[in-house]
Amino acid sequence: MGRVEGKVALVTGAGSGLGAADCRRLAEEGAKVIVSDVNLGAAQTVAREIGDAAFALEHDVSSEESWKAAFAEVERAFGGLHILVNNAGIVVVADPEETTLEQFRKVQAVMSEGVFLGCKYGIPLMARSGGGSIINMSSTASHLGYPPFFAYSAAKGAVRSLTKSVAIHCQQKGYRIRCNSVHPGSIETPMVQNAMGRPGQEQEVPEGVLPPGSIGHPSDVANLVLYLASDESRFVTGAEFLIDNGLTITPAG
Ligand code: NAD
Repeated sequence: MGRVEGKVALVTGAGSGLGAADCRRLAEEGAKVIVSDVNLGAAQTVAREIGDAAFALEHDVSSEESWKAAFAEVERAFGGLHILVNNAGIVVVADPEETTLEQFRKVQAVMSEGVFLGCKYGIPLMARSGGGSIINMSSTASHLGYPPFFAYSAAKGAVRSLTKSVAIHCQQKGYRIRCNSVHPGSIETPMVQNAMGRPGQEQEVPEGVLPPGSIGHPSDVANLVLYLASDESRFVTGAEFLIDNGLTITPAG
């Protein structure tokens, strides 16, 4: 029996990296997955690879109209929604003095506002569908002083804290919707390849337990997303999950 059998999932920014891995894992365990991305071609490629359980959708998370249209289409085509992974993200590399207001706002629009809109319009749809699980992609950047990723860290901090209010709101309203945030360290995806100055050059991630300072594989995060999406995590809401091989809590020296 699949761990998310019969559930409908929408994953944003799923044309690449972590979102694509989440879709693969959720589909393997029985979910129907809507592979949503602002880049429709990338979403279509991922959906084709997955097969019959996957559907591509063009969706810009920074646009309120795009969210309304996406959820209307999901409800029309699938009758409801049980899993929402707010994963889409962008990075601008600039410290607090270099960052322009335009850059700062753009990063907040995709990640902070994008996650807000996903929750705002996802909650009523999921409540009508009998409940479900919202998984918001934050980062270890929300825990650290991280000057080159200034706007990014600020957006991930917003995601970290809004998740808790969404979780308690849904509990108090009796919606049977849980909401948690996931905080990866460095994971081998195009975003990290670009940030590390090696675009398109994939680094192999070995099997087994990894030594300190290693990079993780997208499937490491997808397995956590699967747990949070499934009913196995029914007693888990408003929580934040570091998935960084101990990086954030390692003492200096
Ligand atoms: P990625 O760049 O490989 O994928 C991001 C995807 O988001 C792309 O397909 C892109 O088209 C899409 N996207 C960008 N703007 C969008 C918009 N406005 N609407 C819809 N889609 C949009 O990045 P990734 O590494 O897979 O990152 C996925 C998420 O995980 C991001 O939120 C990122 O901040 C977070 N994260 C990643 C890491 C890591 O090490 N890779 C670590 C911590 C957090």
